[in-house]
Amino acid sequence: MHSKSARIWGKKKNRQFQALVLDWYATNQRSLPWRSQPTPYRVWISEIMLQQTQVRTVVPYFERFVRRFPDLASLACASEEEIMALWSGLGYYRRARNLHRAALMIAGEFDGKFPDTLRKIGGLPGIGRYTAAAIHSIAFNRPQAVVDGNIKRVITRLHAAAANEPEDFFWRQAKAWRHNRRASDFTQAVMELGALVCRPARPLCSACPVQSLCKSHAMSISHRVPAPRPKRASERVDLVVLVLESRGKVIITKERAAGFVPGEWVLPAKIISAEKTDRAKAAKSLAKNILGRSIAVEERMVVRHTITYRRVYAHVFYADVKGCRIEIPEGGNICLADASGGDNFVTSSLYKKALNHALCR
Ligand code: SF4
Repeated sequence: MHSKSARIWGKKKNRQFQALVLDWYATNQRSLPWRSQPTPYRVWISEIMLQQTQVRTVVPYFERFVRRFPDLASLACASEEEIMALWSGLGYYRRARNLHRAALMIAGEFDGKFPDTLRKIGGLPGIGRYTAAAIHSIAFNRPQAVVDGNIKRVITRLHAAAANEPEDFFWRQAKAWRHNRRASDFTQAVMELGALVCRPARPLCSACPVQSLCKSHAMSISHRVPAPRPKRASERVDLVVLVLESRGKVIITKERAAGFVPGEWVLPAKIISAEKTDRAKAAKSLAKNILGRSIAVEERMVVRHTITYRRVYAHVFYADVKGCRIEIPEGGNICLADASGGDNFVTSSLYKKALNHALCR
């Protein structure tokens, strides 16, 4: 049986809320780099970077990214490798690949101009319902209902709603309080309220501009948060990784053993079973595939790394292969990179760590 959904506010309360939040935002908003020139391109990049990632982590990445790729044209012309290098460390690498795909799509289908309708924005790779609405509202000043985790929490508390309120309730409330003229400021103001005042733990009710409208505060239950989405269970992945060094160079490859590790060029690696695989044997056989002959490899260390829900254990093996003839076919899948600058080619933080540790840097 469904419990009855909470009622959304009427016109008068929505107007009060708009006025209070906008007043507060005018003097309390943080100075963030994407707010200084909120072009569709910059708002889009910031919204994608902010997915699953905190503002303070995103700021330096955003600044570097837009310095290197100041507009859609420069992003569309970039190589995936270069985009990945700038994204390295930010995680959820599919976001970066989708940015590139979307930039190419805009160049091809929209004449290089960022689309200005909700439907077209929502059709770009990597953009879901929330992100499309946020971009349309913030960058184009269009009244859109915008609901993310922060806004859901604010709505839950304002209404003292049940923790498992149906999704539709939040979208109906967000639609009802849209601001027609100042959509961009209003959307950012509600987001800012959730981030700075109506925080997940210990909301700052005494400094809250909408305290007078808040049912949870009146009922002294302002700590309540919406039920979290069930998390994907974490999964352990074991890899053997090879650092094959020859006269100051290391072998890198385009054969990606683990698709979830980013980068076009990676260290030779293989997924193994932690219980069943003999790691040294697996490393030797991988080296033999590359070099065409058996060599001795030495296990140097285990590098632990987390990529989204995967806990990766990389068992790093090292061999000095200066005595081996290494065939490097032109345009092939392996090459020799300078060991001192090898990490410029290898963009994943996991392989960078493996390389630096194995070479004792
Ligand atoms: Fe959130 Fe407290 Fe403000 Fe209510 S009064 S909206 S719980 S910060």
